[in-house]
Amino acid sequence: MTDYDVIVIGAGNAGLTSAAYLTQKGVKVLVLERHNVPGGSATSFCRGRFEFEVSLHQICGIGTEKAPGPLRNLFERIGVLDKLEFLEMNDLYNFLYLPEKRSITLPPDIGEIAALLQGLFPKEKEAIKAYLELVTKVAYGVISVQYLQDPDASKDKYPEYFKYALKNTQEVLDRFFKDPILKSVLGAYWGYLGVPPDRLGFSDLALMFRAYCDFKPQHFKGGSQALSNAIADAILENGGSIRYNCGAEKIIMKNGAVQGVMTQTGDEITSRFVISNSSKISTYYELMDPEDVPEPIKAELRQTTVAMSSFVLYLGFNAEPRDVGFIESTNFMVGSIDNEMAYKRMKALDINENDFAAISCYDLIDPQFSPPATCQAMALALKYADPWLKVPPAQYADTKYQCAESFLNVLDNFFPNIRNHIEEIEIATPLTFMRYLGTPGGTFYGFDNFIKDSEMFLPNDSKVPGLYNAGCWVGMPGYQPTLESGVRTAKSIVKELNA
Ligand SMILES: Cc1cc2nc3c(=O)[nH]c(=O)nc-3n(C[C@H](O)[C@H](O)[C@H](O)COP(=O)(O)OP(=O)(O)OC[C@H]3O[C@@H](n4cnc5c(N)ncnc54)[C@H](O)[C@@H]3O)c2cc1C
Repeated sequence: MTDYDVIVIGAGNAGLTSAAYLTQKGVKVLVLERHNVPGGSATSFCRGRFEFEVSLHQICGIGTEKAPGPLRNLFERIGVLDKLEFLEMNDLYNFLYLPEKRSITLPPDIGEIAALLQGLFPKEKEAIKAYLELVTKVAYGVISVQYLQDPDASKDKYPEYFKYALKNTQEVLDRFFKDPILKSVLGAYWGYLGVPPDRLGFSDLALMFRAYCDFKPQHFKGGSQALSNAIADAILENGGSIRYNCGAEKIIMKNGAVQGVMTQTGDEITSRFVISNSSKISTYYELMDPEDVPEPIKAELRQTTVAMSSFVLYLGFNAEPRDVGFIESTNFMVGSIDNEMAYKRMKALDINENDFAAISCYDLIDPQFSPPATCQAMALALKYADPWLKVPPAQYADTKYQCAESFLNVLDNFFPNIRNHIEEIEIATPLTFMRYLGTPGGTFYGFDNFIKDSEMFLPNDSKVPGLYNAGCWVGMPGYQPTLESGVRTAKSIVKELNA
């Protein structure tokens, strides 16, 4: 007899949905979370009169009541659908290209995107039509072949998927288009996948682009913390337990199988199964003894690399969005369309106009997101942690403020009014994310999403009886994939419990 059927390490998106699904099925679950709130990246914090959204620019997969997406069904299954209010965004994204002072806003509809781009780039009219058709076919191929595992999948049935899924995105864009700006506009979602188009598998970009068009980019009333709180409440209502400020220190093993977890305070709690929502590196190299880590996992961890983190400014303004200069909620700020430059800048510590950066203002979709007559924005530049790890502790604060100043100079180029209205500002470096998420390099994307490390090559098998992994380390990063990953993992455990 064990204390719990399942112990979940970590209350990020995947940890929470796995626990919620299991408690719905009557499984006895304990969630251990080292932080004092649920959510992992899906959280908020307060400064002055602002509650800042930590992470979510856009969530995909919810869909509408009439055309529900997979997440709407998932939320219903785990009992939180009626606790959430969804906010639909009007734009897919606004592409701001600095050298030409150009702004192109894509609507969240594939037909409207085609019409808009064909008007702006008339010489490429046919190519735009053909490319968007290809995006659709490859995206649906990913769903049928990889997710639904069509037993009859073949080159004849899904020719575009088999031909293009593993091509690099830049190669596909180059094959279709001549205009470099058009290529960059259509490839801009690479920022959500963490590697530039010449290193990114086309199936990942196609799936994301088409899914955001189908299900519409959305947010939550109350931000991502409202989502995390709702799922945590559902776990408790169904008889599950959650301990905050209670990290897992060790996965207890006996004869090569999981026996439970020892907490950081030394409590030994037994369970039949453990789900780790912690990083895969921490799971195998910190929570387990080296002799318990199976060889194939060691080999897998040797050949993967940790994805980027970010330098983020959380900005509270004493003005309405339009007075600050925000017209669209999601903006990609592009100084250079050179992939090599983009990748080089991700590895640099400083910030300049050649960094690929994004800024989101949520008050455009929910005027009550911030207090009356104010608004907030989250500005993010993609950055690896390595240069930050070399900054001597005594120079950390100065370095952080200098980078914030440089980032504000970059933002000034796109939103000239931005400095005039800042009331609150908080800065997060990759080291901040390391501290709060406990991930190597402060990443929130798991492993680098290079083509060789694509989801289809990384089967989610822990190789340890009783141990399951869930979250961005065992699949695509982002809200939809991690929320789904938790439920997928929970289903596997229910199957094993019923076997
Ligand atoms: C700034 C930023 C912007 C983003 N923008 C978007 C976006 O617009 N759209 C999108 O889809 N995605 C976005 N993401 C990515 C998305 O938030 C993440 O990929 C996703 O939330 C990761 O979820 P996860 O379940 O893998 O776990 P995580 O969020 O990493 O949570 C893991 C949890 O486990 C806990 N934990 C770890 N080790 C232990 C331990 N030993 N004991 C107990 N607890 C432990 C951690 O404290 C944490 O709470 C963004 C992320 C950030 C940070």
